[in-house]
Amino acid sequence: EVGEITEAFNVMSTKLKNEQNRTKEFMEDFSHEIKTPLTLVKNYNQALMDKMIQSPEEQQKCYHLIDREMNRMQKLIQNFLDFTKLDAESVELVKHPIVLAQTVEDVMSKYELLFKENKVKLDMKLDYDVIISADEDRLEQIIQNIVHNAIKYSKEDPYIRMILERNDTSCVLTISDNGVGISEEHLAIITNRFVRVNKVRSRKEGGTGLGLSIVEKLMDLHEGKMVIESQLGVGTTVKLEFPILVD
Ligand code: ADP
Repeated sequence: EVGEITEAFNVMSTKLKNEQNRTKEFMEDFSHEIKTPLTLVKNYNQALMDKMIQSPEEQQKCYHLIDREMNRMQKLIQNFLDFTKLDAESVELVKHPIVLAQTVEDVMSKYELLFKENKVKLDMKLDYDVIISADEDRLEQIIQNIVHNAIKYSKEDPYIRMILERNDTSCVLTISDNGVGISEEHLAIITNRFVRVNKVRSRKEGGTGLGLSIVEKLMDLHEGKMVIESQLGVGTTVKLEFPILVD
């Protein structure tokens, strides 16, 4: 019996140590990510306070840069908190029957202006009979993150194709783009937190490296799964599979 208790204790303490290491690693990653915008804000602000920037135009530019970095920090903190809660499984979804095609349409209409600005061609083929059990806000968040990536990492003549099909027990929403693509080596780790292949581009577009990690966790909570296929220089296809409510 003593042997059994000792073993159980050892298993527990290893588990706890792994958990502590994970938390420590996550905190280190987060501190590293927040350091750049924080340092930039501090430097721009110092320059303004020391009156090192004289012309009103240059001062205005500085205020804009501070604002951009503050927005970046805000998004990083929001995503970080969301990811932490999802990781700790302390998020409860409020699920209802939802016509998935309708939610896709609603999300895409929010992007209309951005599509126009970026000259994105959109092609949708959606099955309106598909009903899934989902948390509407979280479902929108999933689609938004994937669609936003398709725009962020696009090339010339961008297009996005969205197809929603069903089979007996599940449905698949396929979102394809003809953007920069992801190499095989990076594809394997792309859903890990804070992984950003194209750091400069991700930073420029306000990326946090947490979007796909959040989507993966949200798909789990919907008993679904995400599969990403990609070819460098050709484009990316994200397949989101959900169980359907069969009537
Ligand atoms: P980020 O906030 O940096 O966009 P994500 O977790 O959403 O973070 O994505 C992680 C990385 O995966 C991105 O930095 C980018 O390099 C790559 N990526 C994601 N979606 C696409 C896509 N559609 N095309 C090319 N690269 C992508």
